[in-house]
Amino acid sequence: MKRLFWPIVGVGVLLVVTGLVEPRYVFAPLLGLLIWRVGIASFGSLRAGAAHVPDGPPVPVPPDERITYWCAGCGAEVLLLVRGASVAPRHCGERMTERREVVREA
Ligand SMILES: [Zn+2]
Repeated sequence: MKRLFWPIVGVGVLLVVTGLVEPRYVFAPLLGLLIWRVGIASFGSLRAGAAHVPDGPPVPVPPDERITYWCAGCGAEVLLLVRGASVAPRHCGERMTERREVVREA
């Protein structure tokens, strides 16, 4: 359907230019098709923006790493034990700042 959009537009404009079909019978369906494509693209952007959806199964944080998330709004700090998604969690309506420390054994 996506590949047929511009050829259909071209054929429609050609039919109007040659006078075979009245313009309203060509442009009304093309306008409907355009509205349909904009609607589908809007739903696609909503689906792509769902970054909170986990990429896979939860992964435990390695024992030599200490990952904390800090909220710039209220100062809350969270220790991450198991990573569920690659994006930082939100607090006070904003993304928390990740701080990663690697524990080195002496
Ligand atoms: Zn906060």
